[in-house]
Amino acid sequence: MAKIKAIRGMNDILPDQTPVWQYVESTVRQVLGQYGYQEIRMPVVEQTELFKRSIGEVTDIVEKEMYTFEDRNGDSLTLRPEGTAGCVRAAEEHGLLFNQTRRLWYTGPMFRHERPQKGRYRQFHQIGVECFGMAGPDVDAELLILTARLWSALGLQGHARLEINSIGTSESRKVYRQALVAYLEQFKDRLDADSQRRLETNPLRILDSKDPGTREVLTDAPVLDDYLDDESRAHFAQLKALLDAAGVPYTVNPALVRGLDYYGKTVFEWITDSLGAQGTICAGGRYDGLVQQLGGKPTDAVGFAMGVERLILLLETLELVPEHVNNQADVYITAMGESAVAPALSVAEQLRDQLPGRVIVSHCGGGSFKSQMKKADRSGARYAVILGENEINNGTAGLKPLRDDQPQREVPQAELASELAKLV
Ligand code: ATP
Ligand code: MG
Repeated sequence: MAKIKAIRGMNDILPDQTPVWQYVESTVRQVLGQYGYQEIRMPVVEQTELFKRSIGEVTDIVEKEMYTFEDRNGDSLTLRPEGTAGCVRAAEEHGLLFNQTRRLWYTGPMFRHERPQKGRYRQFHQIGVECFGMAGPDVDAELLILTARLWSALGLQGHARLEINSIGTSESRKVYRQALVAYLEQFKDRLDADSQRRLETNPLRILDSKDPGTREVLTDAPVLDDYLDDESRAHFAQLKALLDAAGVPYTVNPALVRGLDYYGKTVFEWITDSLGAQGTICAGGRYDGLVQQLGGKPTDAVGFAMGVERLILLLETLELVPEHVNNQADVYITAMGESAVAPALSVAEQLRDQLPGRVIVSHCGGGSFKSQMKKADRSGARYAVILGENEINNGTAGLKPLRDDQPQREVPQAELASELAKLV
C-alpha cells in the first residue's frame, strides 16, 4: 500500500532539529522575560470573520492564503494565518485591555497556502509580540531595541538590518492612496498584472512590487511621506531619535508599507541578505485602530512577528548554532548480563541525582558487549560506564572514554559522579 506522506509545505521537525528550536525558543523566552513580556496562548483555529475583519478582505492572506473550512455545525473557521488578530480577540474577550497596559508574546504554528520554497512554508512558526495601551513612540523603540538584543543573544548582530517607515494614519493614507491611484492610472498598461489588480483593491501594495516595469513607473510616483499628518510625522521623528540614542542602526525605506490593513504610523522589518528572497525575519508595526475595529475600545497597539524557520535557517547558514546545542548523551551506561540490569539502572539514577545538568542514557535491550559499545558510540556520549558481573561484585564500574585514546579505568561506584563531573 502507498505510504501516506505529510502535507506539502508542512514540515516535521525531527529529533536532530529540535535542539536548535529549543535554543531559539528559550533565548527568546529569556530576553522577553527580561523586559516584562507575558506569554499568552491562543487557539490555532478562529472564526473566519476575525481574520477578514482584521487583516483585510483585499490582502494576499485573506484573498488567497487562508485555510478556511466549514466545521460540522456549518460555521466558517480558519487556521490562523498570523497571531495578532487572535491575540487582540483573546485580550479583549478576557478584559486584559481595560484601563491597563499589556506586553504580551506568543509562539506557535501559523498556516498560509503559499507556494512552498526555502523560507516559505504552509505551516510555519512565528514568535509574536503585542503591546497594548501605549501610544509610543517609546514602546515602538523598546520593541526594536529588544529585537536588537535578541539578535545579539543569538550571535546575529550585524547579520540583519532594520528598515523603518511611517505610513501615517488611515486618513492621511486615504488622501495619499487617491494621489497614487490617480498617478498610476496614467501608466496602467505598464504595470504588472498583480499591480493592475491592486490598483482597484490595495494600491499601496504596488509600492513593493518587484516587477521592473512597475518599478520604473514608481520612480516618479507621489511619495507617502509628503502626505503624512503632523502627528505621524512627529511620532516618526521621535522614534528615530530614540533609536539613535539607543544606538540601534536603521534605514528609512519609504516603500515599506506592509501587507496587512491594520497597520498605521510605524512599520518596520528586520531583513537579512543571507537567505535570498525570503530575507525578512521579523516584521511589524503600530496598529492603533485594530482593537476598535474588532469591537473594543480605541486602544493603542504595536507589535511584530518573527519567522522561526527563517531565524533557524539563518543561524544554520551562518553556522551560529553553539556546539552545546544538541541532544546528545554525555554518559552511556551499559549493563553486561542479566544480573547487571537492575544495578545499572540504579547507578544511572544516582548519576542523574548527582549530575542533574548531564544527559545520562541507560542502555536498554541487552546485547553483546560489542553491540552495546556501538550504541554507546552512536549516542554521542563522551564516556561509557561499563557494568558487568565483576564490577557489580566489586562495587566498581568501568569508565571508558569514547572520544579519545585514553584507556578504560576502574572506578568505585561511589566515586563515579565526582569522576564524571571532572570530565563531562
Ligand atoms: P513575506 O513578505 O515574506 O511573505 P509577510 O509580510 O507575509 O512576509 P508577516 O505576515 O509580516 O509576513 O509575518 C511575519 C514573519 O513571519 C515574516 O517576516 C516571516 O519571517 C514569517 N513568515 C511569513 N510567512 C511565512 C511563510 N509562509 N513561511 C515561513 N515564514 C513566514
Ligand atoms: Mg506573505
